[in-house]
Amino acid sequence: MAGSKFAYVRKFELPDTLLPGTFMVLRLDGHSFHRFSEMHGFSKPNDVRALALMDHAAGNLLEQHPDIVLAFGQSDEFSFLIRKSASLYNRRHAKILSTLTSQFTASYIFHWASYFPNEPLKYPPSFDGRIILYPGTREVRDYFSWRQTDTHINNLYNTTFWALVQQGGESTTQAHATLKGTLSKHKHDILFFRFKVNYNTLDARFRKGSTLVREEVSEDTPEEEREGVTQETPPRPVHSPVSHSKSKARSRIAVLHCDIIKDVFWDARPEILS
Ligand code: ATP
Ligand code: ATP
Ligand code: MG
Ligand code: MG
Ligand code: MG
Ligand code: MG
Repeated sequence: MAGSKFAYVRKFELPDTLLPGTFMVLRLDGHSFHRFSEMHGFSKPNDVRALALMDHAAGNLLEQHPDIVLAFGQSDEFSFLIRKSASLYNRRHAKILSTLTSQFTASYIFHWASYFPNEPLKYPPSFDGRIILYPGTREVRDYFSWRQTDTHINNLYNTTFWALVQQGGESTTQAHATLKGTLSKHKHDILFFRFKVNYNTLDARFRKGSTLVREEVSEDTPEEEREGVTQETPPRPVHSPVSHSKSKARSRIAVLHCDIIKDVFWDARPEILS
């Protein structure tokens, strides 16, 4: 292998193993999606097609990597939790980060036309990525609480901003000025009293973001109970260390729009943080 006299340069590639036994969080974020969303006719404040496409690309990543146990997305970003015992690519930082970011981006572009049939891509979208290591479950819980709180803050702002523009006739500059320094309560009041919008009744997808979890479904689960299924993964191979004795167990990826800050979500799924 290392035959030639040039091969020594390989020694300059240093190991970049991520600390064993720690949770990894990968966060991807669309590059300049403010511009990308305008160039591709996203509806404001929330384009459902774009959100569903993000969910789809994220679901593909869960399908490809059993070590990903949870994903949370909003706007142009997605966070993935990789279990602390993962040996994915021998925990090589650059390998994991570059491969997963590339797989997500490829999937986003591959499925673009299914979600935007009348909106050809004007240029290839791209995503940046980072991996953060967390030592314990408290930090992981707080990480996801942080992202979901951010979802709420941004969505309340954006919903009020676009109501002022689209229904209130304000320019974007005026709307920014109107909202400058306002508290959450003021925004709720503007929405309710000026535009008759009760924020709390807006689609949970917008208020809570998308949470993807892997759930086990037995073969005989009736079709109508399989709500929220986006993709079904084939049964795990028998030799897989995580496979179960009941060979008919399948896992599916469910897309939820629920609270992940309180304990309820986590108490029902102890395996996520195990
Ligand atoms: P950066 O490259 O620094 O991330 P950015 O322009 O992508 O820059 P973000 O803070 O990531 O900035 O914000 C993403 C922007 O993309 C949002 O502010 C919004 O304008 C737009 N956007 C993303 N998803 C949607 C969507 N589903 N519907 C409408 N607009 C969206
Ligand atoms: P890894 O994910 O580890 O990189 P790999 O299958 O991509 O696995 P490489 O060592 O990168 O392995 O080799 C790339 C392989 O892709 C080549 O061995 C060859 O089989 C194939 N390949 C790449 N480009 C071409 C090409 N232009 N024409 C024919 N085959 C190609
Ligand atoms: Mg940014
Ligand atoms: Mg962005
Ligand atoms: Mg963003
Ligand atoms: Mg290769």
